[in-house]
Amino acid sequence: MLLLGDPVGHSLSAAFQNAGFEAAGIAAVYQPRQVSAADLPQVLDEIRRDPDVLGANITIPHKITVASLLDGLGPDAQQLGAVNTLSHRGQVLVGWNTDRTGFAQALEDAGYDPRRRAALVLGAGGAARAVVDVLRSTASRVWVAARNLEQARRLCRDLNVEAGGPTPFGSLKLVVGRVDLIVNATPVGLDGHSLVFPADWLNADHFVFDLLYNPPLTPLVRAARDHGARAVNGLAMLLYQGLASFEIWTGRPAPEAAMRAALERAVLGSAAP
Ligand code: NAP
Repeated sequence: MLLLGDPVGHSLSAAFQNAGFEAAGIAAVYQPRQVSAADLPQVLDEIRRDPDVLGANITIPHKITVASLLDGLGPDAQQLGAVNTLSHRGQVLVGWNTDRTGFAQALEDAGYDPRRRAALVLGAGGAARAVVDVLRSTASRVWVAARNLEQARRLCRDLNVEAGGPTPFGSLKLVVGRVDLIVNATPVGLDGHSLVFPADWLNADHFVFDLLYNPPLTPLVRAARDHGARAVNGLAMLLYQGLASFEIWTGRPAPEAAMRAALERAVLGSAAP
């Protein structure tokens, strides 16, 4: 099993997927592989020809572009126009989306009910599509902010966002002041210190969900808590999307306890000085 993305160094997927294979007695190995956008078509062809590769996860920045390079799409991937999981049978590559269920379960685990709440999603890439699709049917409004406004417009059009819509980065201060839930679906913060907007725009009425999880105390989670807001990182989403990917690849129930424990160990390891 492969993880295809650029970058992939921050990912903790290998640690818990390999623990899952071991616990289920499946002789498979999960390996991250850094792949540029230019090399992606060729790497997919290599996978098609290699019967030993049973599947892959797809991460930043390929989740949208990969959809048009595959032989078929599962229902969620088709609807979202974004793929985070590939399955490989014969010479056929099928794309799936497990980010959607991962985000929905993680939000529920966090005890946050988005009904009658207004939400702001930062970013309009592959992961944002999964997040927006969950929120458009639950939250009262969903605003999507992207530095490339056309990308946010396309997302809102494709997913039929009716209440809320695309908003330019230039209006962020106003929108942040009016929403209850803020979801970061950009890589901003992977460097351990950057934020999309100034920390003092946050207040105790906000709930913040950062899709980033490494470092575990992400800059946005730290800023939110410093301003009295509740905040969670993307670790639970990572686990839940990974359990669903495991089941697609193997056709077997994922050994959740072993995978959760391995992820917790990996987080402690990544947070160690
Ligand atoms: P993606 O498809 O490449 O989308 C990234 C989005 O962020 C794009 O809209 C991009 O805009 C925007 N962006 C990038 N750099 C930015 C910056 N400096 N300032 C403002 N906006 C910026 O990536 P993705 O697959 O959606 O993933 C997004 C992040 O979520 C990644 O860090 C990924 O690791 C994380 N993620 C976590 C989980 C989880 O399970 N916890 C699941 C999925 C994703 P441009 O197109 O203009 O660059």
